[in-house]
Amino acid sequence: VSIELISFCSRLILELERNYKSTQTTEFNLETPNHSTLNVEMDEKLLRQILTNLLSNALKYSRPNHPIRFSLTSSEHKVIFRISDSGIGIPPEDLPHIFLPFHRGNNVNAIPGTGLGLAIVKQAVDLQGGEIAVESHVGQGTTFTITLPSHTASWRKE
Ligand code: ATP
Ligand code: MG
Repeated sequence: VSIELISFCSRLILELERNYKSTQTTEFNLETPNHSTLNVEMDEKLLRQILTNLLSNALKYSRPNHPIRFSLTSSEHKVIFRISDSGIGIPPEDLPHIFLPFHRGNNVNAIPGTGLGLAIVKQAVDLQGGEIAVESHVGQGTTFTITLPSHTASWRKE
């Protein structure tokens, strides 16, 4: 199915902001360099799973008033999603395990969760032949980068 990614991502952000508005003052900034539309062939349900899990983690583990950066870039054969927060970060000893079911970081005791979100994300990324990378520093923040192949990406400049 063909999806227009920029409006798709804007809608996801609106949904999340609506759901968490009462408890969070953090907001998302969507960055789409050079693009006004970006059409790709992708599994919409899987993409939704991936992005809502990553974006809600960014909200959950961030600090108030530190905006979350969500950027979207593409080249001929791939789309790159990058979600970057200035939150609590992931301890180095937890980093190798965060994609395993039920693993939760040492520094999240007071924050509820089941430890399943990233395991789902990893499976959904693998199913689409994509890649996921994470970079994190405790007390500074976390960046997840997802690269998904898309052989029919077409975009228009503003
Ligand atoms: P849920 O199943 O409800 O998503 P969860 O958020 O604990 O629970 P995952 O989304 O799988 O589970 O994340 C696993 C762990 O990775 C988290 O418990 C947390 O320690 C760490 N983590 C994930 N994303 C972030 C982030 N953006 N900032 C800091 N830690 C994170
Ligand atoms: Mg989660």
